[in-house]
Amino acid sequence: MTAPVSVFWFRRDLRLDDNTGLAAALMSGRPVLPLFIFDTTILSRLEDHDDARVGFIHDAIEGMQKRLVAQGSTLLVLHGDPLLLFQDLLSQYNIAAVYANEDYEPAARARDESLAARFGEANIGFHLLKDTVLFHKNEIVKDDGRPYSVFTPYYNRWRKALSDQPPVAVDCSAQATAFWKNPLLPVPGLSQLGFQKSHKSIDIAQPERLLIERYHETRDTPAVRGTTRLGVHLRFGTIGIRTVVRSAVDLNETFLKELAWREFFVQQLWHHPRLAQACFKPEYENIAWRNDEEEFRLWCEGRTGYPLVDAGMRELASTGFMHNRVRMIAASFLVKHLLIDWRWGAAWFAQHLLDYELSSNSGNWQWVAGCGCDAAPYFRIFNPTAQAKRWDAAGTYISQWIPEWNSPSYPAPIVDHALATKRCLEAYKQGLGSRSRFIK
Ligand SMILES: Cc1cc2nc3c(=O)[nH]c(=O)nc-3n(C[C@H](O)[C@H](O)[C@H](O)COP(=O)(O)OP(=O)(O)OC[C@H]3O[C@@H](n4cnc5c(N)ncnc54)[C@H](O)[C@@H]3O)c2cc1C
Repeated sequence: MTAPVSVFWFRRDLRLDDNTGLAAALMSGRPVLPLFIFDTTILSRLEDHDDARVGFIHDAIEGMQKRLVAQGSTLLVLHGDPLLLFQDLLSQYNIAAVYANEDYEPAARARDESLAARFGEANIGFHLLKDTVLFHKNEIVKDDGRPYSVFTPYYNRWRKALSDQPPVAVDCSAQATAFWKNPLLPVPGLSQLGFQKSHKSIDIAQPERLLIERYHETRDTPAVRGTTRLGVHLRFGTIGIRTVVRSAVDLNETFLKELAWREFFVQQLWHHPRLAQACFKPEYENIAWRNDEEEFRLWCEGRTGYPLVDAGMRELASTGFMHNRVRMIAASFLVKHLLIDWRWGAAWFAQHLLDYELSSNSGNWQWVAGCGCDAAPYFRIFNPTAQAKRWDAAGTYISQWIPEWNSPSYPAPIVDHALATKRCLEAYKQGLGSRSRFIK
């Protein structure tokens, strides 16, 4: 039997620095076998064979592999179903413990529970650590122990906890010699995984200090580079949340609040896994959506005749990114002007957003539709034309994505704003019944 090893399984934490689970594995006293699995149960659900997220992960894995090889170690990169692959690994290595960072999504939790049972039978420890958020599970709850459903009191408690326990970056380099010297196996190429390089090229450079300092002034203007583009890095862990917060904590409260929204939605999903697909407020399930497939197609293609909505949808299709203000307006247009179920829009975003995150996506879509926790009141309906005048007065952003804007080839609006507003309020009132009278 070979010497016992600890496995560190990279999942949504693709970095060698400031990684809690990796540090814990390195402290275990055993050599650490670093592992990444291209999970076929996830990859097989992706609809596009040039999905930019697979390319992003692939690049991150190759980057880590280079650094590990330089340290005399290697990352073991596998492709398949984790439950089956671990079965093989248990027969190949003398695994004493498996370390990973917590993933709070319902499917990941189910997978980890199955693995925990399997490891338990084999007497192998399975250690899941907090890494992707500052506070998790029941750490930020009300005095009575129940989860918050309103953001502001959640944020106040989160902010106090942050002041009381400033995040400390975890040092993984000190024990780096503890890596297992695995024979070097090549990282499977994208084509071996069934994917090809995406045409999307999004600017995902790490933000400068100046951008964060001025974030509160620039974040609502889609024509400028006024937000950090950290979403994809936080999603796949190529930057750690403690590193981001440490560099931002004294610079910009508005920015910190957005990071807290991210954690709020992670918490909500962990406490209520049904929110992935169901309304937080169950009475909203009674709304009779029109769900017109042709109108949905026009929205997806950015051909609704509302320039700010269309510009956002075209930015998404071509880059995998959409500015937050425009996400709100495009989502509101789908749900309220077209009366299409928010889940249709959320699924489209899930397919196309590079920074797609189940908790933030369903949380924000429900916020827009009015059915989420602490959501916008349902009767507040964005006027997409007024929004365009306000946030893109010179039409700079719109012109960037709609070259034919202001020409006869740009379509007329598919729905009249006043009629759509009236129709929406009626549908919501009908669906919510007596409760809507109470809300008004
Ligand atoms: C309908 C809709 C769907 C969305 N879907 C997603 C999604 O799938 N994944 C996602 O990360 N964000 C989502 N958001 C939130 C927000 O639009 C993005 O986080 C933001 O635009 C990403 O750009 P950025 O990294 O430049 O953000 P910045 O403005 O620079 O903010 C920094 C980070 O804070 C977090 N953040 C900012 N705003 C929010 C917010 N409203 N909710 C949660 N976290 C936030 C993100 O992690 C973001 O990367 C959605 C918003 C809407 C309205």
